[in-house]
Amino acid sequence: MTVPGNLFILSAPSGAGKSSLINALLKQDNQASARPMQVSVSHTTRDIRPGENNGEHYHFVDVSEFKQLISQNAFYEYAEVFGNYYGTSEAAIDAQLALGIDVFLDIDWQGAQQVRMKKPSVTTVFISPPSKEELEKRLRGRGQDSDEIIAGRMAAAQAECSHYNEFDYVIVNDDFNQALVDLTTIVNNQRLKCRQQAIAQQALFSKLLANNEVEAAE
Ligand code: 5GP
Repeated sequence: MTVPGNLFILSAPSGAGKSSLINALLKQDNQASARPMQVSVSHTTRDIRPGENNGEHYHFVDVSEFKQLISQNAFYEYAEVFGNYYGTSEAAIDAQLALGIDVFLDIDWQGAQQVRMKKPSVTTVFISPPSKEELEKRLRGRGQDSDEIIAGRMAAAQAECSHYNEFDYVIVNDDFNQALVDLTTIVNNQRLKCRQQAIAQQALFSKLLANNEVEAAE
């Protein structure tokens, strides 16, 4: 019997280092663990950016297609973020979980609220920047954005951070390696729960318990 996959949500303001953390976790886990892990590919109406591929980073659709998917109840959750629609396909996630794949949703706080209502077993993680100053430094990046754009991003980041206490776990991404250890710990915590181990270690426990029965009968 397949152990059903775990569903995780990772939310963070942009600049907190969420994408780098997820990528490092996937790389590390897919080398070390027999358990597959994937990041869900959302649908979005925003424009494709250089370096992005349709179907890999997002399923890029237009607004009428997105609205049609809403009317078909195709989404676990959807939200408007920075003036564009984003949504998580329900059928795709359920199929992955049924195959025993641990699935990560990289979604905002609005999406996290909706998934929590539909699937209370979801594990939610908020990634926080270590300080306002560091966040601003990261958002300024290569220094190509105007002060006005940076101020807008900082306001959006603050709005996202105001929801930190709705999450099960909070990781402060100050030291990247420590943040990765923290995230790995959260994933392992879920995988080691008794209800999952009862399925994963079924053969072991049936042998252990069979011996007990023999001894008890003697
Ligand atoms: P970006 O356009 O920079 O890739 O993502 C912008 C924001 O949208 C990020 O905070 C990201 O977490 C969020 N986002 C991406 N996909 C989804 C989704 O399917 N649902 C929701 N609610 N938010 C999403």
